Amino acid sequence: MTSAIPFPQQADTLITGGHILCMDEDFTDYKNGAIAITDGKISAIGTADQAKSTTANEIIDAQGSVIIPGLINTHCHVAMTLFRGLADDRPLNDFLTTVWAAEAAHLSEETVYAGAALGIGEMLLSGVTHFVDMYSRPACALKAADKMGMSMTTGPAFVGFSRPDTPTWEDKLEAAEKLISSIIHRDDVQIMIMPHSSYTLDHKQLTDLVALAEKYDLRMHTHGAEAPSEMEQVAKMHEGARPIEALARTGTLERNLLIAHAVHLNEEEIALIAQKGATISHCPLSNAKLSSGMADIAALRAAGVTVSLGTDGASSGNDLDMWKAMRHASFLTKSLTGNPSELTAKELLAMATIEGAKALGLEKTTGSIEIGKHADLAMLDMSALHLTPNFDSYSTLAYAAGREDIHRVISKGKTVVKDRKLIADISEEVALVKETAEKIQAA
Ligand SMILES: [Zn+2]
Repeated sequence: MTSAIPFPQQADTLITGGHILCMDEDFTDYKNGAIAITDGKISAIGTADQAKSTTANEIIDAQGSVIIPGLINTHCHVAMTLFRGLADDRPLNDFLTTVWAAEAAHLSEETVYAGAALGIGEMLLSGVTHFVDMYSRPACALKAADKMGMSMTTGPAFVGFSRPDTPTWEDKLEAAEKLISSIIHRDDVQIMIMPHSSYTLDHKQLTDLVALAEKYDLRMHTHGAEAPSEMEQVAKMHEGARPIEALARTGTLERNLLIAHAVHLNEEEIALIAQKGATISHCPLSNAKLSSGMADIAALRAAGVTVSLGTDGASSGNDLDMWKAMRHASFLTKSLTGNPSELTAKELLAMATIEGAKALGLEKTTGSIEIGKHADLAMLDMSALHLTPNFDSYSTLAYAAGREDIHRVISKGKTVVKDRKLIADISEEVALVKETAEKIQAA
């Protein structure tokens, strides 16, 4: 409980009124609450009454709102908004072939930056304040995130194959070290080493990346056990191993690995993931759309594995809507287990917030509304017909709310969305995305 700490006399920002869902361990909530923000961090939480004598440079009236921690999207390829809708209604392998060809022809520093800005805008408007991005030219997405006030986890991403026009493996490792050195000093950017998968990288390549992660004490992120089609490819590249085994043999699994998808797992693999402290980014929309299967997140959670939520890239998903991902995860899990009590509304909202922070190792700085954490907040306007009546805010949010209900977003203490509009102007970036789409279509 955090109510014992008094409100300061003066804060940078004071949010007052509204129903605060802290998403802390005790699921503390304040019906007519207040949050003080000082130097980008939460300096007090309590009732509006307790904050009565606090003055602030900015006072935000939150009456009629529910306030939650900013959502955390733990798996995304943000610039892939460029290819949204380009390769729908086909299996993963066909999808990848089409998209990889478009990437080879159309990716540049400018297009990746523009695609990232569009995706980050889409996410901020839906209440996301931190996302994990696995993509080429990571500095471009970071540039967009900085412009727009979004926090992110980034890092060098690797696929094994090289063409004559792409850098060699050694060049890629060297470029990765340069990138790491340029951002490792920042406390608002998390770096992970990101091998694409054990079906695009062999044993030596994965062990090289584990060594790189060890050198800089970094976590790792990869795709794993996504679709049945990868089993054969992984076995060929890793002497008969299944994906999780390949990640274990190379030491990847032990680097606080964040595994996207984790759909096709047996009991031993679930136990191994739990034992090694790896975490999961569950991407139910992407998995369903590509017919990859449905991750058994009930079994993973029962084994003690931290399960978070991701949207995957906008060319497989096809949008970056965490509210849809939440609902899909919940309904599929209830259907799969035959148990409507599996994954409650509270647990679901936790999966999109504090469990996301835990999956990334960021639970000390974000993911819940607690004193000392970054002020990463999303505010929902509860006046919509589809949110009325509201017997229980957790249920209303989990099962009825959507991104259209987010009216204000605060990231690192600064308002980044106000009255449902982005503060940052990204009209030029959006124009470039449209222009690129025209070129793709004309090709
Ligand atoms: Zn992915």
